[in-house]
Amino acid sequence: MNTTKKTPQRTCVVCRTVGSKRGLLRVVRTPEGQVLLDPSGRLAGRGAYLCREASCLNLALKDNKIEHILKVKISPEDRELLKTNIGEYIKEQALV
Ligand SMILES: [Zn+2]
Repeated sequence: MNTTKKTPQRTCVVCRTVGSKRGLLRVVRTPEGQVLLDPSGRLAGRGAYLCREASCLNLALKDNKIEHILKVKISPEDRELLKTNIGEYIKEQALV
């Protein structure tokens, strides 16, 4: 058992800001190959982290950053869904 009590540090894949796991938003590639927002950080799969900021969230989609990082091809349908989810998240959290 590893008993070191270090806060896990994560790096935003867009701007490279390092933050605690809680400060960043997790995006996950599910075992089914879907890419979803994971605000709870509990979904199974390969994860990437983004600042909880509209600029980083939008850039992640725009430049296909997420696809590169997660090594997955996002279908147009999934991309639309992710875009919608990100838009809703930004609105919900009142991010700028
Ligand atoms: Zn960022």
